[in-house]
Amino acid sequence: MSRFLSARFADLEAYVPGEQPQDMKYVKLNTNESPFPPAPAVLEAVNRIETGRLNLYPDPEGRVLREKLAAHYGVKPENVFLANGSDELLNFFFMAFCDRERPVAYPAVSYGFYPVYACLYQLPRTEVPLREGFRLEPEDYCGIGKNIVIANPNAPTGRIISTDDIERIVRSNPDHVVMIDEAYIDFGGESCLPLVGKYENLLVCQTFSKFRSLAGGRLGFAIGAPALIEDLDKIRYSINSYNINRLTMAAAVATIENHEYYVNNSRKIQANRACTVAELDRLGFETLPSKANFIFTRSPQVDGGTLYRELKARGVLVRHWDRPEIAGWCRVTIGSREQMDVFLEKVREILREVG
Ligand SMILES: *Cc1c(COP(=O)(O)O)cnc(C)c1O
Repeated sequence: MSRFLSARFADLEAYVPGEQPQDMKYVKLNTNESPFPPAPAVLEAVNRIETGRLNLYPDPEGRVLREKLAAHYGVKPENVFLANGSDELLNFFFMAFCDRERPVAYPAVSYGFYPVYACLYQLPRTEVPLREGFRLEPEDYCGIGKNIVIANPNAPTGRIISTDDIERIVRSNPDHVVMIDEAYIDFGGESCLPLVGKYENLLVCQTFSKFRSLAGGRLGFAIGAPALIEDLDKIRYSINSYNINRLTMAAAVATIENHEYYVNNSRKIQANRACTVAELDRLGFETLPSKANFIFTRSPQVDGGTLYRELKARGVLVRHWDRPEIAGWCRVTIGSREQMDVFLEKVREILREVG
């Protein structure tokens, strides 16, 4: 730290992204990317013509893409907000709606960026404990009288709550914004998007990074009441009005146009998830029920940190956190069949040698 950094950031603990080794020698199951490349039409969309226009600014309103998303989800373009990854969207949410008078609540075990933004904006925060088995109890949020962020399915647990439960939370906090982070909703879960037309205080956030194989393009979006979208835009235009670059915008339009390709990939991932969980069961692991493209699992024989390190030594990257509540566990992205076979083979080897 230099002596110039503003004192308000002295205690800020920054987010720690998952490892992104640049030599590609790992079977990478640590940051929930898709194992499948973008659809061929997406590569064509980011073609010489589009790259040849990089001298021109992109459309700050992202009209073409917002219309595509609106049509796809049966809403209006005024209901759609675009961000440079849903991480940026979360930043705009915290900046626009949260302050000392309107603090924020989120699950105590959830996406690691929520506490970072709360800390960045020096917000009083309520970290709501999960129940037995990392289950999120909707009652704990009903009438809480705070802004709320919930990842559904939750990360890193993979557990989901129903649209009815979300509706109870949204309805019981009419003077606060509820943000449902649906980064993993397309792996077998049910989206709460149909509630958007009914509630002015609901924002649903999704990303192109997981289901849509576009983590490198950085694109997230929110769907909500036009007034909330206007507020987010006010903040966005005050920070970076060209937050989505031209190539990503073109790639995203082609992605929506090729929805079936991604639905098919998701089916494969869900099948691989079922096979992986079945084999881990057989090996004595405990795995939480997951509706995401990852599983949260632990072995009675090998603790989470050891499993993570031993897998890494054998060329397989998974995610592990040292926080005591979850230190026994590892989060494993569900990749291709071949990747999961390597993962399981290494797990068996580790159980034989270390367990
Ligand atoms: C991956 C993830 C995000 C971030 O997605 P980007 O669009 O890549 O920024 C947001 N929320 C949750 C819960 C995630 O797991």
